[in-house]
Amino acid sequence: MAGIVVVFDFDKTIIDCDSDNWVVDNLGATDLFNELLPTMPWNTLMDKMMKELHSQGITVEDIAEVLKRAPLHPKTIFAIKSAHALGCDLRILSDANLFFIETILKHHGLIDYFSEINTNPSYVDEEGRLRIFPYHDFSTSSHGCQLCPPNMCKSVVIERIKTSAFAKQLIYLGDGKGDFCPSTKLRDGDYAMPRKNYPVWDLICSNPSLIKAKVHEWSSWDEQARILLHIVNTIIFEHNSIGVSSHISSDFKFQDVPIVAHELLPKAVSVPH
Ligand SMILES: [Mg+2]
Ligand SMILES: [Zn+2]
Repeated sequence: MAGIVVVFDFDKTIIDCDSDNWVVDNLGATDLFNELLPTMPWNTLMDKMMKELHSQGITVEDIAEVLKRAPLHPKTIFAIKSAHALGCDLRILSDANLFFIETILKHHGLIDYFSEINTNPSYVDEEGRLRIFPYHDFSTSSHGCQLCPPNMCKSVVIERIKTSAFAKQLIYLGDGKGDFCPSTKLRDGDYAMPRKNYPVWDLICSNPSLIKAKVHEWSSWDEQARILLHIVNTIIFEHNSIGVSSHISSDFKFQDVPIVAHELLPKAVSVPH
């Protein structure tokens, strides 16, 4: 194995929308959501919104149907399947919730490509209402990070992954403000893939001294797939050239993965150390 762990944020990194907003907007609850947002944490509000929708007669099945329509680009599906076939260990690290993520990944046949989903827990209660809880229970203690929302500091998960013997190199893809903190925990030799012109990219560009990883921005879904697979191929090539064999699934067709010429890649954001 090449020991590559690819960590994906979910909203606006795997799907091309924010799943919370997508559900709220498509079920006609945008005004109430905007009215309540200044009064409580986002994660707490989502649980409250599920209560509101339930009281209006909207079922979990209705919510699932809306989630299945969330935009997910075919190139992202290709990138996930190709990285998995090349032996990468794929994980989700998201401030959405388990029900939303599982519903979408299962709908697209992608759930089995991920070894781990780290996100806010959720379950359907006996009345059929979807309940959403914080990943980090901030009612009993704080995770202590000032950068992150009270319910989740993604760095906690990144630090755990870094301690596993398997995870020799990490590739982290994200777009949001909450993806900056974990990006600062990546090591020299890891890769950060921020979505260009999104909050994490702005934060990385304005705080280059806090980033040790190599940074490769992406703008389009096509670019996301191309850059991710190029990085994976590069790491595997480097491992092979020092005599470490990589693992490739037997059902994988090599011609599926474009080997990208380096000059086709957008330049990495320059990060002086
Ligand atoms: Mg996101
Ligand atoms: Zn944090």
